[in-house]
Formats: sequence, structure tokens, C-alpha cells
Amino acid sequence: MTWEERWHPLREEWVIVAAHRQNRPWNGETVEREEPVLPGHLNDCYLCPGVTRVSGKRNDDYKSTFVFDNDHPCVGLDAPRHLDAPAGIYRNRPATGVARVVCYSPRHNLTLAELETAEIVNLMRVWQEQYVELGSREEINHVLIFENKGEVVGVSNPHPHCQIYATNFVFKTIETEARVSERHLAETGRVLFQDILKAEREDGRRIIFENESAIVFLPYFARYAYEAFVAPKAWRPSIAALGEAELRDFAEALNRLLVKFDNLWRAPFPYVMPLHQAPTDGGDHRGFHFHIEFHPPLRRPNLLKYLAGPEIGGGNFLSDTSPEEKAAELRAQPEVHYKQTR
Ligand SMILES: [Zn+2]
Ligand SMILES: [Zn+2]
Repeated sequence: MTWEERWHPLREEWVIVAAHRQNRPWNGETVEREEPVLPGHLNDCYLCPGVTRVSGKRNDDYKSTFVFDNDHPCVGLDAPRHLDAPAGIYRNRPATGVARVVCYSPRHNLTLAELETAEIVNLMRVWQEQYVELGSREEINHVLIFENKGEVVGVSNPHPHCQIYATNFVFKTIETEARVSERHLAETGRVLFQDILKAEREDGRRIIFENESAIVFLPYFARYAYEAFVAPKAWRPSIAALGEAELRDFAEALNRLLVKFDNLWRAPFPYVMPLHQAPTDGGDHRGFHFHIEFHPPLRRPNLLKYLAGPEIGGGNFLSDTSPEEKAAELRAQPEVHYKQTR
């Protein structure tokens, strides 16, 4: 039984773990539904190779990855520069930035979980290039790369892809992580995330996979039932700092986690996956450690973790599952994707 508050050192907030209420592990239930059989190419998919998008632009006949500027950006270079000043204490500013889409594969019916490790390495190189290119621009202070996967997080097009929001501001969570990491470094001389890795390895119960240079774990302070972090073991402020061997190890770690996620309920596993990287605002980010976070919204097959009173109303998460149990569930999953064993 786990019934306590746990401190989230990266967000500086408490997570209430109240796993005593439904203290039974998941019973092996899987999603009983026919998965739709998707074609490898779809002429009306705006992400498939050779398709003409709404904007009139035609996608390349790409063979691996494909990057393009979002046709409906929420931040863009065309955003109005001259704004009326709002009343009183209110403030506004232009919503400038660059929004892009990265297709992982020409194949419409694949997911990140089904890509070969070599293909993930290739994708990670694209992420490196994008972070460096966009981050080096004067007006870009942060590059947020993220994938939303699954209809429960609002994605109707299954074509494997992620998005990039390169903005003039630093997203709130990253700003907090950067601030607390900087303070930790100043106070202790150590990288905060390294201390997290040390604590995870000392305990060991929440580590899902590790190889030479990469590690996957479900953190002590997880807010979502199956929240997982993937990180290089050595200090790297961004994905751009990973060397060849580290890229391969990281890709392998990502693959293992994603396969386990899908195997859990033998169904495509939805998530929000942000890359957390050092801001590109010219600040001192020697305390920042690159990692990918997975925030899966489901607690059980078809059962959403609703954000309600505590989370939306109060701002702290209430988790009714034990991170140790959930990590054990994931660790126990096979490392071969269920679609390959049918
Ligand atoms: Zn497609
Ligand atoms: Zn983070």
C-alpha cells in the first residue's frame, strides 16, 4: 500500500499517491476491439508522400522522414506584430515562432513503436538538426518537440508524426525545470537530473530498461499511472549533444519502452511525448539534462485519467496507482511487439 505525498523535484510540487484505494494490480484485461486495418498509403492523408495539402503545397515523395512548416500554425512568423495594448495590468505580445511537422515514416500505418531502431536513430538525427537550426535563431528561445498519439489526446490522423513549436518564449514546464536545475547546480554543484537517476538506481524498482548509455524509468514522483522517462545516463543538455553510440542506445531504449506500452493491453498505447531540452535563450543551462517524458492519459484500457478538482482546480496531481507496481507491469511485458507475434 502506498499512501503518501511525493515531491516532484523537477516541477517543485507534491504528487498525492493514494494507491491504497484500489489496491489491486491490473488483472490482464486487454482492449477487446478489432483494430482497423490501415493502408500503407492514403491519398487523402495530408502527411503521406506525394499528397497535396490544403495549403496547395505538395509533400515530397519522401522515403524516410519529412519535415514541413505547419499549414495552420499556432505560432508563426506571420502573426500580427502590431497589437493593441489591453486594459490595465493585462499584457500581450506577438505570437511569433515556427511550427513544423515531422513525419516519421512514409508508411501511413506504422507507429513509433513499430519503427526499427535504425529508423528511430534517423528520426533522432532530424530532431537534432531541428533543435540546432531553430534554436540558433535569435528570436527562438525554446524548441519544443512533441508527439501526441491516439484519439484520446485528440489525434485523428494515425500517420506517425510529431510537431515542433519553436517559440520566442520558454514553455512553462521547461522554464521551471531549467530554473530548479540551475539552482540545484549552484547550491550543490550537481546536475539535478543526475541526482534523480542516482536515486532511481539506488532504489531500482522503477527502472524499466537500461543499456550502456540510456535508461528508462517510471519516476518516483510520476503523476500519471504509466508515466515514463527516457534519458541518456551522462549529462547532455539537449539531444544535439548525443554522440553516435548514445543515439543508438537511446533509440533502443525508446523502442523497448514503446513496445512494452503497446504490449500492455495489446493495443496502440496513447500518450503525450515531449522532449525536454535546454532552452535556446542564451542562458546558462549547464544544469539541464535532456530527457523524453511520456504522459499516457489512460490508467486502464479505455479508462482515462480525468483531470478534475485536485489537478485542474488545485494544481496538484492525485495518482491512485503505485509507481512501483506500474513499473513492474511494464518491466514484465515482452520486448517483441504484439503485432509481430500474431
Ligand atoms: Zn498518411
Ligand atoms: Zn522534464
